[in-house]
Amino acid sequence: MASALRIINGKVHDPINNIDGEIKDICIQNGKIVADVPADARTIDAQGMVVMPGGVDMHCHIAGHKVNMARKFLPEDHRHDISPRVGDLRSGTGGTVPSTFTTGYRYATLGYTTAMEAAVPPLGARHTLEELHDTPVVDKGYYVLLANNVCLNQLLEKGRHEEFREAVAWWINASKAYAIKLVNPGGDEPWKGNKNSNVHNLDEQISGFNLTPRKIIKALIDVSNDLGLPHPAHIHCNNLGHSGNYATTLETMRTAEGRRAHITHIQFHSYGGEVGKNATSKASDISDYINANDNISADVGQVMFGKATIMTGDAPLTWVLRNMTHDKWVNADTECESGCGIMPFAYQEHIYTHALQWAIGLELFLLANDPWRMVLSTDHPNGGSFENYPKLIRLLMDKQFRKEQAGRVNQKAIAKTALLDIDREFTLQEIAIITRAGPARLLGLDSKGHLGVGADADVTIYDQMEDKEAMFNAARYVIKSGVLFINNHEFCADYEGRFLYVAPEYDAAIETTIKPFFEDYYSIQFENYAVDDRYVHGGEVIPTHINAS
Ligand SMILES: [Zn+2]
Repeated sequence: MASALRIINGKVHDPINNIDGEIKDICIQNGKIVADVPADARTIDAQGMVVMPGGVDMHCHIAGHKVNMARKFLPEDHRHDISPRVGDLRSGTGGTVPSTFTTGYRYATLGYTTAMEAAVPPLGARHTLEELHDTPVVDKGYYVLLANNVCLNQLLEKGRHEEFREAVAWWINASKAYAIKLVNPGGDEPWKGNKNSNVHNLDEQISGFNLTPRKIIKALIDVSNDLGLPHPAHIHCNNLGHSGNYATTLETMRTAEGRRAHITHIQFHSYGGEVGKNATSKASDISDYINANDNISADVGQVMFGKATIMTGDAPLTWVLRNMTHDKWVNADTECESGCGIMPFAYQEHIYTHALQWAIGLELFLLANDPWRMVLSTDHPNGGSFENYPKLIRLLMDKQFRKEQAGRVNQKAIAKTALLDIDREFTLQEIAIITRAGPARLLGLDSKGHLGVGADADVTIYDQMEDKEAMFNAARYVIKSGVLFINNHEFCADYEGRFLYVAPEYDAAIETTIKPFFEDYYSIQFENYAVDDRYVHGGEVIPTHINAS
């Protein structure tokens, strides 16, 4: 059978199914993992190799208008990193914001087969979807920005909670999103209205509204839960990057009151110290809270030294950073649906703040009791490119290497952290958790992140090597939905990957509330706004579970 495949002799790391380095066959047929295949099926001998489910990146920025704008204004980033057309592969450029084709191929090279774009304003959804269709290999989806939506916030301030819930469900359907994203909740109003200002704590009144960031956060956590979305509210907290912001982060987590919530790039939200002064590490306070509260999950947003590109819905933040770097900067609002700022950046070892950020990210990984709820990301390309993942994995697995690296960076910063006191080394099984099983589970993707019967046949095979950076830098084999995509380090096929989204039910009567808002404020007609099903070829609706707790 052409589509049948048997992988033999490999050490399998499949944490969801409690398989930790056991040598066992993995069988594949028609794009799925199966119990057995016919004796004449094609065989891959994985002797001396490690077999894992395909990697799942639950927070990155790889498609949409902000990503495309970053590509356009960073020609110098692409010029020295050109991927020519080779065999089945299409050409592109790399750098911190690779072109669409190159993004997909480079994720596959690292053994990743799923990637979620983490911030899309509804008006950018159609564009994002088109670009994701052009991003090969990986399955993908995106999170829709709803925490600064004027129409939704007007319903919320008036206490119209039923309509708010229906309207959120309408917006998720209209944008074909996978999850609800909150960025700097409530911060766009002062940014737009009172030159370059922002909200500073969860209980501050949002200018122009009888509303606070806390009410928005609570409402969107509730709605994610009520609608049974597979992934909970995905929260970029207020005060990103500011000294002392850990208090805001703790307060945001408490606002969940036991309901599920995901705090993204939590490294950027774990700083002590006084506002405007040098930050300190509060990684242990943040870790203690998450260790004790299993309703909260996070991805780290590790900073890696070298080039990065800041791209965020947190427009006031990029304004602050831009005033430090005096480099290029774009602020790109989308009809006031969200903020957006983009600028090039470089993390440098000798700079106190950058070294502190690097160390705090590592502390957060190493202090997590439950790696299922503290998963790997660099907030690509904000903390650095996803191409840094192999080096980051080595930093977690090899304490000698980590201590050597820590010796090369700003020592005042390292002294403010507990990094040198931590001897933990991640095992291969723990790496499999933070890079595939954990993110898949947090996303509610039941058929991903594992190799049990019925799972998607997304499989990566690495050569087992002492140097973990080299090991994870180039997968020997990558199988995507049963298609052998990388064979003995050679790309041997092209593959589009599927688009993943949710479609929660809502009462169509809510349109009579939303439509007048469009007529008053939008430049686009209501009828032309929603992304219709024609755009979703090769898509898969992931079911919602009403009354999920
Ligand atoms: Zn992000």
